[in-house]
Amino acid sequence: MGGFIFQQGDKYEAARERMVTQQIINRGVTNAATLKAMRKVQRHLFIPKEYEREAYDDNPLPIGYGQTISQPYIVAYMTEVVRPTLKKKALEIGTGSGYQAAVLAEVVDKVYTIEIVPELARESTERLKKLGYNNIICKYGDGYKGWPEQAPFDIIIVTAAPEQIPQPLIDQLAENGRLVIPVGPPSAVQELILLEKKNGKIEKSRLTFVRFVPFRRL
Ligand code: SAH
Repeated sequence: MGGFIFQQGDKYEAARERMVTQQIINRGVTNAATLKAMRKVQRHLFIPKEYEREAYDDNPLPIGYGQTISQPYIVAYMTEVVRPTLKKKALEIGTGSGYQAAVLAEVVDKVYTIEIVPELARESTERLKKLGYNNIICKYGDGYKGWPEQAPFDIIIVTAAPEQIPQPLIDQLAENGRLVIPVGPPSAVQELILLEKKNGKIEKSRLTFVRFVPFRRL
């Protein structure tokens, strides 16, 4: 479990509580562990100073290099949908600010996360280390290939949108595993897709429409 040892109230506690109630619970997220994580992780520590006061608003925010931290509701929704438990091992593609990784790290055993922008990879690795998240392992690289040395994963969350689901990620999903990924053309509305591996077979469901930054390749 990550976080500061002295988890005293910070000045955004009320704003964060409003975020959880109005944006997340009101839209139907019910998983207790997910809600607890959204209440705990201080989103304002993951964004540039100039946007700090908007940290708990109902939208994505710029984090530099043309990338964004996802809308709080989407982070909560994706976390709930992969059915997190403290025994599970997760892979995230697109570390960005590290916020989704931190939320995941509160609800699963271990998080592996890959970021393709070297500066963001460096900044988020530093940030997560400072915040005490010993159960998050970051690396710089192209997440298309997944992380074969650590596979299989019970959970895979992709936070950038490819036009097609990368086959290596499907291959690295564990039996009974869940993969959630936005799929669609860049700079347009994409579909959030859930894949489940059952008896070695892939079941696909379409969840909702979303807008993510494009999935890039090295
Ligand atoms: N989960 C992040 C969201 C960041 S936006 C957060 O909570 O802040 C998506 C991120 O995916 C961007 O930082 C982008 O650089 C990264 N990305 C895009 N294509 C990628 C790829 N092929 N491999 C790894 N990261 C990628």
